[in-house]
Amino acid sequence: MDTGFFVTWLRDAATRIRLQRDRLTELDAAIGDADHGANLDRGFTEVCKALEDWPPTAPAQALLTAGTTLIRRVGGASGPLYGSAFRAMGKALQDPVTLPGFAAAFEAGVVAVERLGKAAPGDKTMIDALAPASRALTAAVEKGLTPYEAFHRAAVAAEEGSRATIPMRARKGRASYLGERSVGHEDPGAASSALILGALAGVAV
Ligand code: ADP
Ligand code: MG
Ligand code: MG
Repeated sequence: MDTGFFVTWLRDAATRIRLQRDRLTELDAAIGDADHGANLDRGFTEVCKALEDWPPTAPAQALLTAGTTLIRRVGGASGPLYGSAFRAMGKALQDPVTLPGFAAAFEAGVVAVERLGKAAPGDKTMIDALAPASRALTAAVEKGLTPYEAFHRAAVAAEEGSRATIPMRARKGRASYLGERSVGHEDPGAASSALILGALAGVAV
């Protein structure tokens, strides 16, 4: 996993978010303020631009550039949360990148989101997709699976985690203002996390 791998991951995530922008906005319209698709599309478009303007020379640098850009360019809650995740992951990443190193750095990213957002699993947030993905990566390392298999399992775990937010009652973020009425809707941030993990599974290792 070289610098090109991480740049491709981030660019593919940007493409998936652009293609799913309306769906993310519809999910946020149901339990938030209908801007999640626009927030992330703008943020990841800026990430792609930043990666062209300042081509990273190391994997960690690609993640740090992405994180800083998301923090600066996305006004909503998701910008600082994803931004901190990518920055924490970049800071924890050792070069050359191995699957165990990737899994450990990813976990550091999830911990950063939990610290900043003070959300726990079950609160109906992006954590409900990111934490299962992190567990799937760790389990794949323990089983000695290939990165290809590990990333696919992480993507499936994130997808399942996102769908599992539907019956949850939101306890963090705007959706929590709705209380019981947040039940029955998929969390937009969990859905975008599943897209980002889906992009990871699509990058050739
Ligand atoms: P905003 O809510 O400010 O409009 P977005 O719509 O871009 O921001 O992002 C909303 C998503 O952010 C939610 O669906 C949820 O997944 C995530 N989120 C919000 N607050 C928190 C939090 N405290 N911890 C973790 N994730 C959160
Ligand atoms: Mg919103
Ligand atoms: Mg908003």
